[in-house]
Amino acid sequence: MNRINGGCHCGNILVDLELSVTPASYAPRACDCDFCRRHNAAYVSDPQGSVAVWIQDAGLRGSYRQGSSQAEFLSCRRCGVLIGAFYADGGRLYAAINAHCVRGAKNFTAQQSISLRLLTADEKTARWRGSWFSHVNVLTARYADGLHKL
Ligand SMILES: [Zn+2]
Repeated sequence: MNRINGGCHCGNILVDLELSVTPASYAPRACDCDFCRRHNAAYVSDPQGSVAVWIQDAGLRGSYRQGSSQAEFLSCRRCGVLIGAFYADGGRLYAAINAHCVRGAKNFTAQQSISLRLLTADEKTARWRGSWFSHVNVLTARYADGLHKL
């Protein structure tokens, strides 16, 4: 596993990614929807990998749904950085992480443009279940403090 980390600008939200292959094997996907374009977001994910998200101050957790409202976009309300998109289904949480908030993002392959706007709701969620991280933990401060002591 290749472990990389990152987070928002102010450090309120940290991400820890475990990738099944080297970062150079991933081409972050730049979604062409209005929301992602305004953030200039490009997402990286790995169904064989895992991601942990630690939120220090849950009161500063920004949550936004747009379009078909199926995914939740997580951002930091203090510094405004978009962390990624999350989708819950059948008790499992899926996630795609904004590559720009990961340290060493330059080690990824050049990003590619994707367009999901013409997909149906079911086509979108099937795609997310197949390509996003499927081992996802979002931990708030209470738990994160414990983890930091390890
Ligand atoms: Zn922040």
